[in-house]
Amino acid sequence: MSNVYEALGVPTVINAVGPSTRLSGGIMRPEVAEAMAAASQHCVDIAQLQARASQVIAEYTGAEAGYVTSGAAAGLLLGTAACVTGLDPGKMNRLPDTTGMKNEVIMARSHRNFYDHAVRSVGIKLVEVGIADRFSGAGVRDAEGWEIGAAVNEHTAAVVYVSYAHTQPPLAEVIAAAHAHGVPVIVDAAGQVPPVDNLRRFISEGADLVAFSGGKAIGGPQSSGILCGRADLITSVALQHLDLDVMPALWNPPPELIDRAQLPGAPQHGIGRPCKVGKEEIVGLLTALRLFVEEDPAVRHQRWLDKMTALVQECGTLAHATAEVVADRKRVAVPTVRLTLDEESAGLSALELVRALEEGTPSIAANPTYVQEGVVVFGPMCLRSGEESAIAARLRALLGA
Ligand SMILES: *Cc1c(COP(=O)(O)O)cnc(C)c1O
Repeated sequence: MSNVYEALGVPTVINAVGPSTRLSGGIMRPEVAEAMAAASQHCVDIAQLQARASQVIAEYTGAEAGYVTSGAAAGLLLGTAACVTGLDPGKMNRLPDTTGMKNEVIMARSHRNFYDHAVRSVGIKLVEVGIADRFSGAGVRDAEGWEIGAAVNEHTAAVVYVSYAHTQPPLAEVIAAAHAHGVPVIVDAAGQVPPVDNLRRFISEGADLVAFSGGKAIGGPQSSGILCGRADLITSVALQHLDLDVMPALWNPPPELIDRAQLPGAPQHGIGRPCKVGKEEIVGLLTALRLFVEEDPAVRHQRWLDKMTALVQECGTLAHATAEVVADRKRVAVPTVRLTLDEESAGLSALELVRALEEGTPSIAANPTYVQEGVVVFGPMCLRSGEESAIAARLRALLGA
């Protein structure tokens, strides 16, 4: 199958980072690729397909409704737009001009990241709260729930919460503070599965909308995602995302997704229109989601662990580095290999090792997050069978076996 890339003259990469967008995401299961190919051979009413997707996502997440987006970041944009406009088509048409609307979104300052560009692109004013005092090493505190509540005013459209295992303040506190003022909470949970329970966790804690990536561990198409949550907000999302170049007399959306009776009229193409999602992505995402939920998490973990164990074993004893598997399921959702380099005796730094791996043939992409500590990390999620051996061979050549 690499021949499509050969024909284009684009080299394939051994991806030991994970389903990173920069590296084109992961390796799709054949069942998902086959479902996408089958989907491509027929046409459907895309709103009906999203309405069915809503039911399937609702089943897997416990939310009232769901929607297939072109990624978690698109979910943040669409979810923010829904919180700003509600079901008012006039407001939908005016975005990103939010004059006269609820147009402030609150985030803890420590949650700020460049995916929040998607939130800001709706035309809102981002209101930052709290100081991540822990960052300096001198402090012990981060933003607290009450500070979120204190920042709410009559212009507040939503609170955005970025979820990681270490995120402070706890989601429950933020939800309590926001809901006390009737303000919805949008959770960025892009990479928070596995564990599979997290598909339900944020909704069950009371989040109004939750955005997941479809192209990370769920194993869907790289440009897919899930947004799930309150039915009225998902209706607003659909209205601002679906193609609405349709004559009002012919507009017949599925009532379970869009209830026309609630609307004075139809909006035009919305702010979400550039984030369009194809039928192939919708079908691929739903197929991947089903396979992901059905797979025993212990089996999935073992499959990843086997690759990482093989990598360490095949490295054997390296002259200038030690490789160990990190797989404590309480601490890490996905097992990895941590390679600690003796930079002095190796005569190269961890960063230089990452570059040497990338510049070899085939190129090997490793995770450079911890190079300043002399550590290079390898992950199993996007490795094709046998690629762990290719990585081990390269490491032995570069680091002295
Ligand atoms: C990956 C990621 C995103 C973006 O997800 P896409 O599905 O690529 O749009 C957003 N937020 C966080 C925290 C992420 O890790």
